[in-house]
Amino acid sequence: MSLDLAQALAGHVPGPGPVLTMALLEINNLHVALEDGTEIVKGVDLAVDQNEIHAIMGPNGSGKSTLAYALMGHPAYQITEGEILFGGEDLVPLAADERAQRGLFLAFQYPHAVPGVTVTSFLRSAINAIRKARAGEDDPVPIPQFRKELFAAMDRLKVSRELASRYLNDGFSGGEKKRVEILQMAMLNPKIAVLDETDSGLDIDALRIVARGVKELVGPEMGALVITHYQRILNYVTPDYVHVFIDGRIVEEGGPELAHTLEAEGYERYGKAAA
Ligand code: ADP
Ligand code: MG
Repeated sequence: MSLDLAQALAGHVPGPGPVLTMALLEINNLHVALEDGTEIVKGVDLAVDQNEIHAIMGPNGSGKSTLAYALMGHPAYQITEGEILFGGEDLVPLAADERAQRGLFLAFQYPHAVPGVTVTSFLRSAINAIRKARAGEDDPVPIPQFRKELFAAMDRLKVSRELASRYLNDGFSGGEKKRVEILQMAMLNPKIAVLDETDSGLDIDALRIVARGVKELVGPEMGALVITHYQRILNYVTPDYVHVFIDGRIVEEGGPELAHTLEAEGYERYGKAAA
């Protein structure tokens, strides 16, 4: 067997181009440090494809959000080693908007309010930015088409039409924020969505909204990486793969049954760092 073929079979051919059995999003030996040099993510390997739901589960402070921000290109998080490949292309040199144009979407744990900008105009700007990048010139979505798609998505995801004309996240309840986030995901049509739902604050209503959105949208065109501290959301959406994340590393992987084991036993079985 040639070296090239051996590398291809191992999924580690450098550079772009079709590769055997390569997932759309491939994270290889990823290390992420804070601006002061503290390493938080300590060598993560993860492959997420369209039509798959992956869950990353881990205790508070294990570095889950750091991983999500690094995937999206947040400038405060430095990738010190490893690679993030999207369709074979290295994402690491790309800015956040360029990653979004490629089809990566990050739903924030704490979405910001944008007073003065309605949900509708925000969504239209976001879509037009992506269209412009893809076309290489201004290519705004025609308003009638946009409105048709927006209302169809709102109806499908059971988002009240009244929200469309309100200012983005301004005075929104937790559930309304989640609804608009999922609406944004539906309208932007990402290939891989990363949802950082960790830690706190999501009531059952909001959990159901997120779970329903993930279930509706994941399919041949979209895969999802759901990041969570609690097992709860996984009662509403069944992941195909569960990755247990402790102290910057994936320490165990399995199917949906692993989420239930974690709910029953907690993270203590993984040692002190998980307590
Ligand atoms: P998780 O999402 O699993 O709770 P985080 O990625 O938010 O974990 O945090 C992991 C560690 O990195 C924590 O100790 C946290 O305080 C630290 N950390 C994350 N982001 C920053 C930041 N921007 N500045 C300083 N410390 C940070
Ligand atoms: Mg977090």
